[in-house]
Amino acid sequence: MKQVDIVISGGGVAGLTAAAAFGAEGFDVLCVDPAPPVTERNVEGADLRTTAFLQPARDFLEQANLWPRLQDYATDLAVMRIVDAGGPRIAARMTKDFRSSDISDQPFGWNLPNWLLRREMTARLAELPNVDFRPGVAVADVVTRETQAIVMLSDGDQIRARLVIGADGRNSAVRQAIGVGVKTRRYGQKALAFAVTHSVRHENVSTEIHRSGGPFTLVPLPDYEGRPSSAVVWMEEGAEAKRLFDLAVPEFEEAMTERSCYVNGPLKLASQKTIWPIISQIADRFYGERTALVAEAAHVVPPIGAQGLNMSLADISVLLDLAKQKPDALGSTEMLQKYHRSRYPEIQLRVTGVDMLNRASMLKAQPLKDLRAFGLNALHSVTPVRKSLMKLGLGVRG
Ligand SMILES: Cc1cc2nc3c(=O)[nH]c(=O)nc-3n(C[C@H](O)[C@H](O)[C@H](O)COP(=O)(O)OP(=O)(O)OC[C@H]3O[C@@H](n4cnc5c(N)ncnc54)[C@H](O)[C@@H]3O)c2cc1C
Repeated sequence: MKQVDIVISGGGVAGLTAAAAFGAEGFDVLCVDPAPPVTERNVEGADLRTTAFLQPARDFLEQANLWPRLQDYATDLAVMRIVDAGGPRIAARMTKDFRSSDISDQPFGWNLPNWLLRREMTARLAELPNVDFRPGVAVADVVTRETQAIVMLSDGDQIRARLVIGADGRNSAVRQAIGVGVKTRRYGQKALAFAVTHSVRHENVSTEIHRSGGPFTLVPLPDYEGRPSSAVVWMEEGAEAKRLFDLAVPEFEEAMTERSCYVNGPLKLASQKTIWPIISQIADRFYGERTALVAEAAHVVPPIGAQGLNMSLADISVLLDLAKQKPDALGSTEMLQKYHRSRYPEIQLRVTGVDMLNRASMLKAQPLKDLRAFGLNALHSVTPVRKSLMKLGLGVRG
């Protein structure tokens, strides 16, 4: 039976990052995923979400030697603009800017399309002789002993590993195999994700517009076909999101331009539309015998404040640090308990925080929407509070 140091279940952005990071440190890694990665923009199944990597995540991508492949495609995010459009008509009634220059000499983050991340990350894995990436193969089952795990693959292969990393998403097969439960909160919301072009330059400003149903967020991208471009995440109650998804392009463009309060001028659809269910979820534990759960296998949050994948990269970073400190103890109970203790409290805090922001953004009743705008104004106008909030959002200390 083949033996490796680490089996990674899942070749989403988190699993691919973990494979590159552990591979770069010399660990023997096998990464499997039943779905071959879609690495082009304009094809069926392309992941049109983008990821705004915040400063700590960018540092980790540097460490994993992935950043040199990504930096030329990244768009800086210099300002986070929050717009309250919760008045009786759809119009911006309050705009507050959070500037990265208030707390750092670097941008808040760097935005990259997920399909492009998959392309560059799989190319990086191909350069690493100690990393075997097998698309088209799933983890079928995991059996663990004190000293090792045996991973059964869908192609009939069986692999011995010192550590199994479950990076296989919100319905994680690894999590189920080791019997770890989850707490899930459903909002009845969906998010539309797509790209647009517009007439007004974005000037590296990411804009989140709150009305009801959830935020409408524009995140800067490089120009597309000679026009300024942004990625959009538009959250609405499920039925409304489905109605919008099914609209013909001219009606859809009209609806999204109105919902955007014209902040970037008229919006033109510049990609397919994709639609994502929104939940909040946390696993009861982030580990089992010889097994660590990371990313959406461990926690899911609504897409507000660019937290999801950034939290996931922090999981992988902690796990890697522990593995480097004591390579012989890779996958030991001591290592895995340390991982859990290091990540669980912070993740719990962020899951709760993002849940509150999402509920505030969904509000329908006018007095509550007015209270939300009042709260935004109060938080923004006190400088130390504003700076602390920005640091908290970034996940940086000090
Ligand atoms: C609309 C939207 C916008 C977002 N924007 C941001 C953002 O700006 N910043 C941010 O940080 N986060 C963002 N997020 C969150 C982020 O996209 C997710 O956290 C991230 O994509 C999840 O990655 P993952 O690798 O954990 O899971 P997935 O992408 O779900 O990958 C899991 C992989 O596991 C595979 N798999 C499933 N079963 C098996 C099995 N049995 N064996 C092996 N493999 C298996 C699947 O095929 C899949 O490829 C956003 C989310 C949404 C919905």
